[in-house]
Amino acid sequence: MSTSITNEAFYNGLQGGLDGLRAQGLYKEERVLASRQGSTVVCGGGRELINLCANNYLGLSGDESLVRAAAAASEQYGYGLSSVRFICGTQTVHKQLEKAIADFLGMEDAILYAAAFDANGGVFEPLFDESDAIISDALNHASIIDGIRLCKAERYRYAHNDMADLEAQLQAAAGKRHKLIVSDGVFSMDGTIAQLDKICVLADRYGALVMIDECHASGVLGANGRGTPEHHGVIGRIDIITGTLGKALGGAMGGFTAARREVIATLRQKSRPYLFSNSLAPSIAGTSLAVLKDLPGLSARRERLQANAAYFRAAIGELGFTIKPGTHPIVPVMLFDAPLAQRFAQRLYELGVLVTAFFYPVVAIGQARVRVQLSAAHSREQLDKALAAFAAAGRELKVIQGER
Ligand SMILES: *Cc1c(COP(=O)(O)O)cnc(C)c1O
Repeated sequence: MSTSITNEAFYNGLQGGLDGLRAQGLYKEERVLASRQGSTVVCGGGRELINLCANNYLGLSGDESLVRAAAAASEQYGYGLSSVRFICGTQTVHKQLEKAIADFLGMEDAILYAAAFDANGGVFEPLFDESDAIISDALNHASIIDGIRLCKAERYRYAHNDMADLEAQLQAAAGKRHKLIVSDGVFSMDGTIAQLDKICVLADRYGALVMIDECHASGVLGANGRGTPEHHGVIGRIDIITGTLGKALGGAMGGFTAARREVIATLRQKSRPYLFSNSLAPSIAGTSLAVLKDLPGLSARRERLQANAAYFRAAIGELGFTIKPGTHPIVPVMLFDAPLAQRFAQRLYELGVLVTAFFYPVVAIGQARVRVQLSAAHSREQLDKALAAFAAAGRELKVIQGER
């Protein structure tokens, strides 16, 4: 290890930055789980907590049938491929999964990635160049922002969920060859569902393509879990859909892009996270395939998820907390102040409820919150216990008033 003065200054600078984060109450700690993911989890000390912060919408992450499906896929296809897809990393199960994803979303083809972060990182640069315009919602996920940065297309940003501003940006981009509107289907910090029906109308009017990121929507929204397009009745009108296998659809990891054949074929030739990164582990591919096959039969879980979300939203509002309105199982409970949000989450932890505080830079300054996420796996009893803890912590920290 080098001991030169300048290198020490580098390390000292980092330490100073970390100390600064701690002093401001902005330092992120990791909670260590000693159990599977589920409606309850066991934390390091052996304490069981009600878990309100996983993207485990359908309750599949720790489910025994998925563990068995993963073991069966490993047995058949091995542990891993030690290869990218185009060298010797493509197995039958990868092709079957790509077809199942495309069918599920009503698209022609799909391509797998190690993560949705990679799907978004690798989707723009191969398809668009400086002649083109990408028109992006201001609150789009970090991976979309990074993906757009890697692409030479001209960038236009519209105010979050603001259709008038989207139209203004489409007009500003009028001279460009191709125009792509890109939005999260569901925005992860607010639970807002994109106005995809209106986006499609504007896209038609201005001759633009539409891309959505369905990470918090696939398996969650729509009568059959087909996501935001099903929710808004615009299946078949979206050009590019990206999504994750790491949330509702099983919870391990992996991402995908689904689109027309020419798009997917181009990505297979040119998308860098696909060309230069390892093939998805067969246990994940096989299990994801099993989940997609089962998805129609999981509608009871989706109904429970929606019922849990509606129940929690109503009850937490009753208690006097401020939440972002909506219907999605993401329920942002607003504390506004970052250190307060941290203390609130810590107090809930002590009371046996696991939630995470989010603050700048993940959300805007002054918009700190704890984000509650409901799951089909939560029982009413668990939700009532969690609500009682919210009430107690809320009164203690003077977030809400009085007795209830
Ligand atoms: C979680 C998330 C991602 C990243 O998904 P990974 O598969 O975990 O990389 C991308 N976009 C959105 C909107 C997300 O919520």
